[in-house]
Amino acid sequence: MSFSFQIQLLGTNSALPLYGRNTSSQYLQFGKHHFLIDCGEGTQHQLQRYQVKRNLISHIFISHLHGDHVYGLPGLLGSYAHFSRSSSLTIYGPSPIKKMLSTIFEASESRFSFPIYIIELDHKKAVHLNIYQTTQITAFPLKHRIPTIGYRFDYVPQERNIKKEVIKQYELTIEQIKRIKAGEDLIIREGKVIKNKDLTFSKYGAKSYAYCSDTVYDEDIIPYITNVNLLYHETTYLSDLEKEAKERMHSTLGQAIKISQKAQAKKLITGHYSSRYYNLEEFEAVAEKSSQDVSIGSDGNIYNF
Ligand SMILES: [Zn+2]
Ligand SMILES: [Zn+2]
Repeated sequence: MSFSFQIQLLGTNSALPLYGRNTSSQYLQFGKHHFLIDCGEGTQHQLQRYQVKRNLISHIFISHLHGDHVYGLPGLLGSYAHFSRSSSLTIYGPSPIKKMLSTIFEASESRFSFPIYIIELDHKKAVHLNIYQTTQITAFPLKHRIPTIGYRFDYVPQERNIKKEVIKQYELTIEQIKRIKAGEDLIIREGKVIKNKDLTFSKYGAKSYAYCSDTVYDEDIIPYITNVNLLYHETTYLSDLEKEAKERMHSTLGQAIKISQKAQAKKLITGHYSSRYYNLEEFEAVAEKSSQDVSIGSDGNIYNF
């Protein structure tokens, strides 16, 4: 099974699909896990277009229930049923996502060939989701017109590999190798200990990704996104529309850059552009001038981290 850390943007427009930009969704490969974040209308078309193996997706994280983030979900679930998916699917999101989906399932008399678990998260405080031992997922509050949740994904390396030269150097037995892999130090003679960190290595260091859409500029989120390798933060507008951004509870590119710098995120990816922007040249110009590493996201873009 492939092991990588990669995000692919499936939609970068706000409100509605326009100018070749779909509504919000992202496909996240996190170690050996496959996640979908948000599922705006048309997401399953994008999954096909970019040849994502959608059956691998085990968990879907929904930020909020505005249509441009969730209207693709019933269609995607229907297609899974059509193709006789058998593995379970867990969907996280704010209340009333359960009511929203169950009303649709009931009205359309939908039957599913696989278990669907819908878990409503508290949108007012940070919640740690214990799904996998090496993957810590934190849901945290964003400020938007309706209950909205951001997500942070952290990979905590636990598996350590033994250095090849060490096996030769100390003529290690299978039993010793097992113990070192489990984290023990090596005692080579009385009083002489070789530390585990000098005997082993981890293929991947700590990795982290945070997703913030939709939200007004809010410094309260900084503790949740500090030091991430990659930060996605919505940039619905350019800086001249800061007033509109505040009124509609969205952010500007300048504000997203500011937040990413304050949080010491290594790289910022943007998206959720207003339909008033036919092309993103002005966004590109601002990004180029910034001292922060900023990538103006567009549909299909892939980022490894
Ligand atoms: Zn939106
Ligand atoms: Zn919204």
